[in-house]
Amino acid sequence: MFLLILWQLCPKFLHTNSTSHTWPFSAIAELIDNAYDPDVSAKQFWIDKTVIKGQDCLTFMDNGNGLTYEAMLKMLSFGYSDKIAVNGLEPIGIYGNGFKSGSMRLGQDAIVFSKSEKASCVGMLSQSYLKEIGAEQIIVPIVSFELTGEEHKASLKDILSYSPFKTKAELLTEIGAVNSTCSTGTTGTRIIIWNLRKTSTGLTEFDFVKDRYDIQIPSEVYEAINDKSQPERTASSIPESEYSLRAYCSILYLKPRMQIIIRGQKVKTQLISKSLAYIAKDYYRPTFVTKRIPITFGYNTKSKDQYGIMMYHKNRLIKAYERVGCQLKANISGLGVIGVIECNFLDPTHNKQNFDNTDKYRKTITSLGIKLEEYWKEIRFKRNKEDPNSIPVEDTMKRPDQNWVQCDECLRWRKLPDGIDCSLLPEKWFCHMNPDPQFRSCVVDEEPEDSDDDRPSYRKTYKHTTTQTEVPKVKEEDEEERGKQREDEIKTEVEERAVQSTAEVNGIEQGSDVDTSGCNIEQNVIKKESAGDDQAKKPLHNGVAVSCCLNNAEAVGPSSADPLQNNSSINEIQEQQDKLLELMETAAQERDDYKQQFHELTNQLHDMQMRLQELSQANIKKECAHQGSQTESAGEGQDYKNLYEQAKHKVDELSREKEVLLAAGQACAGTSQGEERISDELVLQIDSLIRELDKSNKERDALRSQVSVSSPSSSGSEMRRSLVGLRQNVGRLLTSFVPALDPDQVNYDCNVIDEILEQVLTDVESLQVNNLRERAGND
Ligand SMILES: [Zn+2]
Repeated sequence: MFLLILWQLCPKFLHTNSTSHTWPFSAIAELIDNAYDPDVSAKQFWIDKTVIKGQDCLTFMDNGNGLTYEAMLKMLSFGYSDKIAVNGLEPIGIYGNGFKSGSMRLGQDAIVFSKSEKASCVGMLSQSYLKEIGAEQIIVPIVSFELTGEEHKASLKDILSYSPFKTKAELLTEIGAVNSTCSTGTTGTRIIIWNLRKTSTGLTEFDFVKDRYDIQIPSEVYEAINDKSQPERTASSIPESEYSLRAYCSILYLKPRMQIIIRGQKVKTQLISKSLAYIAKDYYRPTFVTKRIPITFGYNTKSKDQYGIMMYHKNRLIKAYERVGCQLKANISGLGVIGVIECNFLDPTHNKQNFDNTDKYRKTITSLGIKLEEYWKEIRFKRNKEDPNSIPVEDTMKRPDQNWVQCDECLRWRKLPDGIDCSLLPEKWFCHMNPDPQFRSCVVDEEPEDSDDDRPSYRKTYKHTTTQTEVPKVKEEDEEERGKQREDEIKTEVEERAVQSTAEVNGIEQGSDVDTSGCNIEQNVIKKESAGDDQAKKPLHNGVAVSCCLNNAEAVGPSSADPLQNNSSINEIQEQQDKLLELMETAAQERDDYKQQFHELTNQLHDMQMRLQELSQANIKKECAHQGSQTESAGEGQDYKNLYEQAKHKVDELSREKEVLLAAGQACAGTSQGEERISDELVLQIDSLIRELDKSNKERDALRSQVSVSSPSSSGSEMRRSLVGLRQNVGRLLTSFVPALDPDQVNYDCNVIDEILEQVLTDVESLQVNNLRERAGND
């Protein structure tokens, strides 16, 4: 009667758990990650759309190691996570939640066929099935054809009744189809998802017709989920990877090791950091990381409209074409420039489409913005120096600096000699076709990449150049010294800016004065308005801006002595002035926007405080009834408070009960040992429960005080983080009640844990009622 191990996960969690994937490709990427992980280590991955018994289905197949019965159980249920690093390769699906959240985002139901060395298994994770049988917990029927227990017979019956496959023979045919397309391997896994998600218009959310070799997201679907933080985009600036699965898969991994085949056609993976033109290496050395982090900058060779930072985490793409710094402004700064960085020091969000919005993240983005602008200026400066009349880089035809091609057999990347046009290579390319004899065989290791340790970042010459009229000797020394500083890498951003400002104040630049100082002014205004993270920097920046302007006027005036050039100089100055005015106008506009945002945020904060008050008053009276609505609300923090109060109440009652039980146990010392054991367990569980609860209560209080104290600009993300922390603690707390729950697998970004907590609370309540009744009966 007092068995605490009662609670299982309720089927509706399958849906809630998948809600963090707002973008459907994010769900598909989870399934690809699973096959890419070292414990599966597939070499190929097939994505297809097929029709089974009149229904559109998505299929995903790999030729990896396949799953044993236990492995499939782990993949389909919520209780386990055993992904560990193999041979130094860290698994991407570290939460072990990828299959569940990904598949259940794409459709209602999934069936998995797998062939490993030892066994052939079929498993089904199906929301329709659970609904139809009225299941109160998540049941996952799995059949292993090597085993024949009663349990397997029941599972087989359920799979045949509720999946599209109606006979055992049909299942065996599907197992036979695993990897039939691949000559080498006999193991692998095949996932079929049916009852695909539909849009509000009743159509599937994918467009399978527009390109028969691709899976695309119709524009109305991806526009609805578009990232609002990025600037307004024209049709040509929307990266193909946002709506074309083929394009997305081509950049999904920084260093692609697995071939992806979409609807029968191989995805041409890109070695993104090698597909750029005018490549330069820079380094980011944040204070919170011991090693400097390489950043590759270059120009997009395909489209000047698609640019920004490609942010990877452990080889996996997290954010694509993230515009930073000067690229966020409505001018040509940073146009066409792509930066590639692997940010293993940041934490991705659960859906792997963003990073947690921490201080580290914000600092990284700021720094990337500065470095990207430096690169852009440097390239422009160099081109101007070579030929002042040259057209801007972004408008020229560009070829990647290096040509790399992947072998179809061993999947190693080979560097081709300059001058080879990769688009003319055959569809299938193998190492034996390599013109370079040193790497002409599949058994030869890949050419080592440039070691990041011994390569200095590129020289930012535009900062050091001088005019002829000035005393060259002094300048040379100055430059040399500054160059040294450069190579040593400047320790902090403040210092770096200081050096730059000296250079600029000295009036060193002339050719690209307008752009440079213009950009600085813009930057300063933004810095000033954005409730800056570095107060100390502000005066410095402002100083630079002012002195720069003054300097321009002085420097340009007297140096234009030649009467022939005079006219053009005046025109130039006029133009420069106009540009400056324009830039200042943009800056003012942006400042106003920020003011508006600030105002809105303050209002939101105010509203939130009001609601918090209202809720805390209302909740005291409110009964702890089961709440129907599961939607995430802005007041999650407050909901917790309510739930905690309930929980605390329950725990108090439980501990009272425990004492009664203990007393009873002592009174009838002769009773069975089992009951005693259960009582002991109960005591332990309750003790840990109370400890956890105290901790959680403290966190809740901290959360509450943050709501009232923290500044409006940060309160959102701070609260979010506290909420995640709180949920993690609740998750740990709940494992004593719900053994099927592995806290490492829970998606803390959505309200799965809230729902579980609520369920447990409701169940505790009914259990108590029962206990009281029984006790009353005994008395
Ligand atoms: Zn090869």
